[in-house]
Amino acid sequence: MTFEQQLIDWRRELHQNPELSGEEVATTARIRHWLESAGIRLLPYSLATGVVAEIGQGEKMIALRADIDALPIQETSGVAFSSHNEGVMHACGHDVHSSVILGAALLLKARESQLAGRVRLLFQPAEENFTGAKALIKAGALENVTAIFGMHNEPGLPVGTFATRGGAFYANVDRFVLRVQGKGAHAARPHQGNDAIVLASQLVIALQTIASRNIDTLDSVVVSVTRIQGGNTWNVLPEHVELEGTVRTHNADVQRHVEKRISEIAAGLASAFGAHIEVEWFNGPITLLNDEQWAAFAMQVAQDFGYQTQTSELHMGGEDFAVYLQNIPGAFVSIGSASAYGLHHSAFNPDEALIEDAARYFATLAEQALLVN
Ligand SMILES: [Zn+2]
Ligand SMILES: [Zn+2]
Repeated sequence: MTFEQQLIDWRRELHQNPELSGEEVATTARIRHWLESAGIRLLPYSLATGVVAEIGQGEKMIALRADIDALPIQETSGVAFSSHNEGVMHACGHDVHSSVILGAALLLKARESQLAGRVRLLFQPAEENFTGAKALIKAGALENVTAIFGMHNEPGLPVGTFATRGGAFYANVDRFVLRVQGKGAHAARPHQGNDAIVLASQLVIALQTIASRNIDTLDSVVVSVTRIQGGNTWNVLPEHVELEGTVRTHNADVQRHVEKRISEIAAGLASAFGAHIEVEWFNGPITLLNDEQWAAFAMQVAQDFGYQTQTSELHMGGEDFAVYLQNIPGAFVSIGSASAYGLHHSAFNPDEALIEDAARYFATLAEQALLVN
């Protein structure tokens, strides 16, 4: 079997047997088996799911990370190797990422005696719920690691295309809940109550002015109200309305400013309407900050390798790889996967032609990164 066919077979086996975040038991067993069969040493970390392995000798150490979890989506891609697990699908392409890093591992293993140090391979569980990176770090996976690299496939880019950027790349992902407390009344006698729906409507409109009137137009920010619930019939004005939404930013000052403005707007409107609004704020994944030098290095290696390279746009989504970069430098990169349907879509179908090249790229990147001081 060719190297490429091996990687595609592994990818398809993972694709057919997807597991949700934190439940990647069979996936973990498969990856362990494939690495062990290639004579690659596994590190004895106590992890519920996920695998850490190592190749090479010496002080210096570079890490490559793949994510291994799937999503609660019923697959509709129609591919012959569609998911066997009802309601679970590799709709983010983590099966592809895993096969790429497995391929890089095989290539690095073949050059083990020539490596100028060690390459640590992180097969991370639970990327989608942003808990896996923390678990691996807690187990010790970053100890003695100089720099870390990882990838996401990019459905909007053709195969053979590579993109990254220095500095902020993926977003801070925060969530808010606003509870409007008014006073219920008969729908025909609104003056006897304090209509929570009218106030909630003003609130939605006022929140839109944060992005348009409070934040520098050159800074990136999204404020989205995604859920609004109140009332249960046609002739009663409800007492409560609850709103929920998300804020995406790339800069901690902007993030804090948005949080402050949401509270101020809520308090101001509550006072103007003689009602009460409770604000709850939940900090989610932090912004992914690529190291400028390692991002430039990864880009140069990609260019020399033959990829069409470009500077990536900012992503408004979150990525758990950010947590590694909070601890050590490194770079996250995008590799074109040319899918007609995007990430997290039930018909997502990345082009497998990216896999072999990406495996060769990551092996080259790790080997060359070991030569940098
Ligand atoms: Zn995803
Ligand atoms: Zn993903």
